[in-house]
Amino acid sequence: MEICKGVSSFAGVAIGKILYYHRGEYRVRQSMADSAKKEIEKFSAAREAVKSRLLFLYEHSPALSQERSYALERQMKLLEEGSFSRAVESLVMTEKVTAAYAVMTTRDGLTSSFRNLKDEVAREQLENVKQISNRLILELGGTRAQIDLGEEPVILISEELTPTELLEMDKEKLLAVVTHQGSIISHTSIMIRSMAMPALLDIEIREEWNGCQAVVDGYTGTLYVEPAPEILREYEMRRQADLKEKKELLKLRDRKDVTADGKEIGIFANINSLDDLSSVLFYGAAGIGLLRSEFQYLGRESYPRENELFRDYRRVADTMGEKPVVIRTVDLGADRQADYMDIPGEANPIMGNRGIRLCLDRKRMFRTQLCAIYRASAYGNLSIMYPMITSESELDEIEALTEEVKAGLREKKVPFREIRRGIMVETPAAALISDRLAKRVDFLSLGTNDLSQYTLAMDRQNPYLKSKYDDHHPAILKMIQMVVENGHRENCQVYICGELAADTELTETFLRMGVDALSVVPACVLPVRKAVLEAFAGRKVSDGKQTF
Ligand code: PEP
Ligand code: MG
Repeated sequence: MEICKGVSSFAGVAIGKILYYHRGEYRVRQSMADSAKKEIEKFSAAREAVKSRLLFLYEHSPALSQERSYALERQMKLLEEGSFSRAVESLVMTEKVTAAYAVMTTRDGLTSSFRNLKDEVAREQLENVKQISNRLILELGGTRAQIDLGEEPVILISEELTPTELLEMDKEKLLAVVTHQGSIISHTSIMIRSMAMPALLDIEIREEWNGCQAVVDGYTGTLYVEPAPEILREYEMRRQADLKEKKELLKLRDRKDVTADGKEIGIFANINSLDDLSSVLFYGAAGIGLLRSEFQYLGRESYPRENELFRDYRRVADTMGEKPVVIRTVDLGADRQADYMDIPGEANPIMGNRGIRLCLDRKRMFRTQLCAIYRASAYGNLSIMYPMITSESELDEIEALTEEVKAGLREKKVPFREIRRGIMVETPAAALISDRLAKRVDFLSLGTNDLSQYTLAMDRQNPYLKSKYDDHHPAILKMIQMVVENGHRENCQVYICGELAADTELTETFLRMGVDALSVVPACVLPVRKAVLEAFAGRKVSDGKQTF
């Protein structure tokens, strides 16, 4: 047995086999097609191939249950009937996407629209649609971007992992992630936390562990490779206890976020992809306080089209209904970029062309996203938020562009709503002029991950600064308090959506400051709700006022 100590980025216990991940094993998603006609031909051939395969199974599987034979019959019929194929073909023709991508999008659209079906027959039919879609995607070359993790769920170990690599993995197959590089507030760590799985950093990983049994203890930051039987037994018990504790927390799913002495606060969820939507609902978040839209741009070969973006936002709006959703316009650059973006190399990308700066440089890209968000606004309770703001002149430019976009929609008679607008306060500059910024928007949202790194002048990804990185530093807390006061003076709500929002040691402090909402990874919604419900027990909000 080997025991290694590292740093935990999410608590929990995982037990399973190790998969050592080498870079460069995955295929890149190809969504844009060279020729629509060729894609239609490929789709026809794939349909025939899947039909033959289903027929073979139907005729040569003697032990087939009645239910399964019936399902195969329905699936073959679906492949012959026109509506599913027509939907795919029309997507290929109108949007010039690959057939595999069109099948995937059609499947996801149907799944999302009919996910609440109660009728048993209709649910079965939806399941059939999913199954033939998956077979078709596979037949079409499996262009659904994924790093192959094999059949069984694994504990993934890797020297380091980028957000793009993580996006391309099937998260159902991940039990835990262990890396050597990285920091607990890197974008990769935040994404792993959204998946609610234990993760360790700072472990000197070794390739020969590939295939070994292991235990990840996300409470103490310990990795056991080939654990002794008694360790395995103990952790199996811990895992069961964890599940029990989570079950207890789940009882808080429908509770209002009000402290014992009546102070109210919104607890929202941060999401990094549409896959996180089910967790948002599962954990009972009051809304989505930060939709990081980067997932729409990473792990692909060209910029997403307006309709692709729109479809995702519409799905979020439909899923969340009247619950608020804050869509952050894309924060690309630094550690979030893809080859096709062709961002010139920078000596210091964290301080470089990222966030709103890049969007205002690439107005076509930005306009496309604004248009998609405004179009989707007609379908739910959406707000828009801009990242990395440092000045009022950036807001001037955004406003001018937004007016152009809205005028275009009006002209085309496309419905949209006048949605709430907010900015991320994640640079010291924005914090210091928050009195002026607050006059121009409906809400401010403190991005404490970036705000901390810029205030402390310490790269949040730098593993060597981990022990010196103090995100409870009085300078940071003082800034948060100042932004809340400035915001409230202008009737502007103030949220926190950085990782600090999930730090339950600070929940009472934030409540005292008067923060309007905390937005955290979905798995932290209930622990933070518990902290809110238990806050000020037997005391008043005003007791123990702090100065920083
Ligand atoms: C932040 O900086 O706190 C934030 C929420 O943005 P991101 O982590 O996506 O940079
Ligand atoms: Mg940020």
